[in-house]
Amino acid sequence: MDITSGTVHETRALLRSKKISPQELLQALADRIEKIDPAIHGYLSYDLDRALKDAESADLTLPLGGIPIGVKDVISVQGHPCGCGSKILKGYIAPYDATVIKKLRAAGAIPFGRVNMDEFAMGSSTENSAYGPSKNPWDTTRTPGGSSGGSAAIVAADEAFAALGSDTGGSIRQPAALCGCVGVKPTYGRVSRFGLVAFASSLDQIGPLTKDVEDAALLTSIISGADPSDSTSLNQPVPDFSATLKKGVRGMKLGLPKEYFIEGLDPQVEKAIRVAVDHFKGLGAEVLEISLPHTEHALSTYYIIAPAEASANLARFDGVRYGFRAEAPRDLLDHYGKTREQGFGQEVKRRIILGTYVLSSGYYDAYYLRAQKVRTLIRQDFASAFEQVDAVICPTSPTPAFKLGARTDDPLSMYLADIFTLAANMAGICGASIPCGFAEEEGKRLPIGLQILGKELDEARVLQIAYAYEQSTDWHKAKPNL
Ligand code: GLN
Repeated sequence: MDITSGTVHETRALLRSKKISPQELLQALADRIEKIDPAIHGYLSYDLDRALKDAESADLTLPLGGIPIGVKDVISVQGHPCGCGSKILKGYIAPYDATVIKKLRAAGAIPFGRVNMDEFAMGSSTENSAYGPSKNPWDTTRTPGGSSGGSAAIVAADEAFAALGSDTGGSIRQPAALCGCVGVKPTYGRVSRFGLVAFASSLDQIGPLTKDVEDAALLTSIISGADPSDSTSLNQPVPDFSATLKKGVRGMKLGLPKEYFIEGLDPQVEKAIRVAVDHFKGLGAEVLEISLPHTEHALSTYYIIAPAEASANLARFDGVRYGFRAEAPRDLLDHYGKTREQGFGQEVKRRIILGTYVLSSGYYDAYYLRAQKVRTLIRQDFASAFEQVDAVICPTSPTPAFKLGARTDDPLSMYLADIFTLAANMAGICGASIPCGFAEEEGKRLPIGLQILGKELDEARVLQIAYAYEQSTDWHKAKPNL
């Protein structure tokens, strides 16, 4: 078996027992990437020499000692490019480490590679990357999901042991579902956003994509915690999420929201979720039907709030301070116009225009303010649900991986890919996606994801439920044929 097929905890054991050195591990990883990545395009770049240098001082007694971790191209690593999958940041080198990177380093990990994504994390398929899409390892004619599609693809293809992604409306959970890995979106504020290039600041969270729940718990524990550099980070103690993993689900109440079983839900996905529900009952959990009545408004509300925040956040890319600058402008205004015209892709421009429109005077009350009110209702839906149940279970994505190109001409159909994940970001709660079966299309097996949503700061419970399910099934052990 290839050395890169291991999980983080398995690989850590190999390193600690000196069966392999951190340098050999990195070389094996680079070999795997050279062999596999031309078909996947999960990485935008990686710097083996620098990683080997980092490995010289690796302290193998630390929780992630000597383990390389893939980093989505939206998270700053000092001295490395940070391009957000966009042409406008071409040539930009991050001057500092994001807090999550500092925390990973302190735990002994080696940040490795720049990982492909939809431009500025806007999208559900990586097809908005200025550098071309990533491919789904289970069927390379299909998308790995997005926007953290590169992160999910490299983990599923054993081109990484684990990776970091960011989730604004589903961008960790949806690609995790489509690639058959585990993805965690922590509670808003649980993980510092310092050094994460902002898309929608009130929704963005960094989280891990991993091969199993044990790794997800380990990484989530390590990257969480209050940070003086991010005023929205929560000043709350971080439990050791690994410590409570094995407590099981006996006696727990799980809610199945009736609004998530809608038209457009793929029958194979629905079936897998229903089977998972029975499985949870067999493990001793009680499953109740619940209602999240404002679910139908989540999509439209998200597509007002997220673009509004994006239009403000992306104003900084003016061709003066970072990266790309258009040539031969007539004057300053023309410089801004040309740089942004040439530097941003279509979807990013669409969001900036939408966002500017909903924030403009005269429309602010009708759109932005109203969306904020509906956001509160969505939040309240979850708050009342969590009075009845310990966690919510539902599909992560309405369909398995779709074909590359199938939705690129129709933004609305692309937006629907996140219909089941957006609400958690609007409510600020935590969630995870874990593998729960396969659909079959055109003779290919395509992973299906089960989403587990927990109340604010309840990652420990979400991971405990995820672990109980995972350990009593075999789905996470399946590997694509590459
Ligand atoms: N697909 C959603 C969007 O395009 C969510 C993206 C994300 O979570 N970063 O906005």
